[in-house]
This record gives sequence, structure tokens and C-alpha cells, in this order.
Amino acid sequence: ESEFTGWEEFGDDADGDSGGARLPVLAVVGRPNVGKSSLVNRFLGRREAVVQDIPGVTRDRVSYDALWNGRKFSVVDTGGWEPDAAGLQQSVAAQAERAMKSADAVLVVIDTTVGATAAEEALARVLRRSKVPVILVANKVDDERLMADAAALWSLGLGEPIPVSALHGRGSGDLLDAVLAALPEAPMDKFGFGGGGPRRVALVGKPNVGKSSLLNKLTGEWRSVVHDVAGTTVDPVDSLVELDGEVWRFVDTAGLRRRVNQASGMEYYASLRTQSALEAAEVAIVLIDSSEPLSEQDQRVISMVADSGRALVLALNKADLVDADRREEITRELERGLNRVPWAQQLNISAETGRGVHRIAPALRTALESWDRRVPTGRLNSWLGELIAATPPPVRGGRQPRVLFATQAANRPPTFVLFTTGFLEAGYRRFIERRLREDFSFTGSPVRVNVRVRE
Ligand code: GDP
Repeated sequence: ESEFTGWEEFGDDADGDSGGARLPVLAVVGRPNVGKSSLVNRFLGRREAVVQDIPGVTRDRVSYDALWNGRKFSVVDTGGWEPDAAGLQQSVAAQAERAMKSADAVLVVIDTTVGATAAEEALARVLRRSKVPVILVANKVDDERLMADAAALWSLGLGEPIPVSALHGRGSGDLLDAVLAALPEAPMDKFGFGGGGPRRVALVGKPNVGKSSLLNKLTGEWRSVVHDVAGTTVDPVDSLVELDGEVWRFVDTAGLRRRVNQASGMEYYASLRTQSALEAAEVAIVLIDSSEPLSEQDQRVISMVADSGRALVLALNKADLVDADRREEITRELERGLNRVPWAQQLNISAETGRGVHRIAPALRTALESWDRRVPTGRLNSWLGELIAATPPPVRGGRQPRVLFATQAANRPPTFVLFTTGFLEAGYRRFIERRLREDFSFTGSPVRVNVRVRE
């Protein structure tokens, strides 16, 4: 135990870019060749191998920072698996103890094609006793046939196995959501932004829709708190803006302020910028020019947001250019164009005059509340029971699929899993999704519904 000082050292290393705050630590454990390196590289975006499985060689622990959904954490490989069978169980248990002592969450990686070996049983025994959250990853689920083998890992008593394929990238969203749910938020930084800091907003939209005008309006009329403070957690490309008594972090605004890129390839760069802003954000404000018909480029931005799983507020800008008698027609047109995201609030604003701009912060709050929400399992299932009794799933191939149970597997965005005895048609799935959204009022947030068929 006394020789295990690597993570404290790492904590010091982290000072440079985290304002003295220690990042939450995720320990990765697993036997050699279960796919730890490819998993970590693939899902946490690091190119070089984190973990080298060299039998018989005791390696230094490796750690580095990962960033997902705008949250930073450290990933640490605990090492210490001994290749010889005699010492294996003991060394595994020791590894688990170390992980538990020093990490905020433990990621256990198992090769689903092999299943749980004696070593993993030993590991599970130790981890089951600890209070540290465990994320159980069933790796190498490269095709559907391995889903049953993944489900068999429930028997380890470490909770729900998350089936992934590091090879194909499947399951990465579920895995990363589970990791973030298990890890504590970063502690307060020196500006007193605790619990992960201000909520993170991406301001996106096609060129000339009024993004920089809106940002200027927001920072001009309200106090812009901090910009570009060296050596703090504030990423210099972000802007902290106080709106409605709350500080918000508008991510990736450097480009907006500079007003560069009127050159060729602009659209390509605009979409790259949108993508990176979305990755760093929790909620997006999509700006649309309501004085013009909705364009393909608007649709592309909306699709990117919808695919990103972020919360969304639609701001229909340049309302000052639209006269009263055209307003209704335009609203109708937009409604048709925006049918991909009927759940998002729409605000008529003018970045020029400031009209409607005060409604942005309340809309962001509503969207984030929906995005964060968790529905208790009991309540979810009593709701589901009534819904299904009133509208049972359609019969398919002479068989009536039964919906056994539902659980909310994740939030941010709310993600539900339905356990069924058969295939549920897409239409029925959408029906459930729509009713979930209406009955639990998930305004401003996407809602995902996954179906798991149990034989
Ligand atoms: P960005 O490319 O999305 O950052 O767009 P800009 O903020 O640079 O705005 C593009 C043009 O639209 C500028 O000439 C702005 O003055 C104008 N603009 C932005 N918002 C409004 C608005 O609400 N009303 C009017 N009339 N013009 C606006």
C-alpha cells in the first residue's frame, strides 16, 4: 500500500490545467487482452495505448485526462495482473483494493467472448464489498449473438453489464454516460464554480444568422464575468456570461468573436465548429433567421444537435424584420421545417433590438431540467402499465410482444430501456417515446428509448 503513490503524483500534475482542483479518477481494471487499451483509446479518444499488456512486466501506472460532455476526468490503469495462475487471484484482489482506495469509480472490462474467469470472480468479490461505483463493461460484443453472453455477466453482482465493441465503437454513448453518472462532479474551482461549474451552452447556427450579434447583446447588456483567465479551468475559448442571475458558460465562442472565415470552405468549418461546440456543451441554442425560409444548412445544424443528444432551445432571430401579417405564415412554415425537434421551445428574438432575449435563460433552464431528469423506476412502471393496458403493442407474426419492465438507464439525455418478450415496431416505440415526453414533460430535451428483447 505504501508504494502506491502514483495517483497523488498525478494529482499534482493535474494542477496546471485544473486550477488546483483534483479531477475525478476512473480506474480501469481487467485481465490482459480483454481490450482495455482499444476500449480506452476508442471511447476516450487517446491515440497511443494506455495499457500495454506485457506478461510478467510490472509497469508504471499510466494516467491521462479525458474529456467527455465537457467534463474532465482522469483515467488510470491500475496494472498488477500477474500472468502466473498461482498468484493470479491474490494479485487481482490486490489490484481491486488499490483501485477502490484511490479511484472515484472503477471500470471493469471483460472479454465477453471468454466470459467471467476465476480472476474476475475474485475481483468482483472485492468490488462488491466497496462503496466505489463500478461500471461493468462487456467488451467485444461485435455482433448481436454475443448479447446473451454479455447479459450473463449480471451474475458477477456488479450491476448491469454494458455491451460494447471497442472494435466497432458500439455502445460508446451508453458507456460514457455510465462513466459520467458514476463519477462525482469536479470539485469547486477557485472561482467558486462547484459541481462542474456553470452550465455549458453552445450557440450555433449557419453563418450570418446572428450568433455574434446575440453574444454581443448578451455580454453587453449583462455583465460578462470572466474571459481568458490564464491558468484557470476557464477554457479561453469560452465566455462566461451572467444571464438572469446565473452564470452560464458559452462554449467555443472565440471564433464567433473574431468573425473570421468568410472564405471558401466556410460551410465545412462552420460545421466543424458546430460539432466541437456541441461536444463541449450540455444545451444548444440554435439560431435561425426567421426572415428567410428555413435552409438546408439550418436543417443540418438541427440534425447535428438532435444527433448529439444535447438539450435544445430554438431562437428564431431577426424577428424585427418580420412584419405582423407575415408572422403567422412564417411560423407555419417553420413548424413544418422543425418537425425533427417538435419538443424544443421556440423563442422569437431579435439580437439587434434585444427583443425576446430575456426569455433565453428561462428556456435554457427548462431544457436542462428535462435533460437532467430521472424518473423513479416505480413511477415509470406504473405509468407504463397503464399505457400498455390502454394501448397494447401491435401483434407481429401472430405473436403479441409483452413489455415486461422499464428503467431509466441514464439521463443527459433521458434514456429509457424497455425489456420485452419480442420485437417492438418502430411506430409503437415512437408512441411510447412521445407519451413519455408528454406525460413527464421533457420539454427541450431529446428522449431515447431502447428496447431489449428477453427470450
Ligand atoms: P453570425 O455569422 O451568425 O455570427 O451572424 P452575425 O451576428 O455576424 O450577423 C449577421 C448579420 O445579421 C449582421 O449584419 C447583423 O447585424 C445582422 N443581424 C443579426 N441579428 C439581427 C436581428 O435580430 N435583426 C436584424 N435586423 N439583423 C440582425
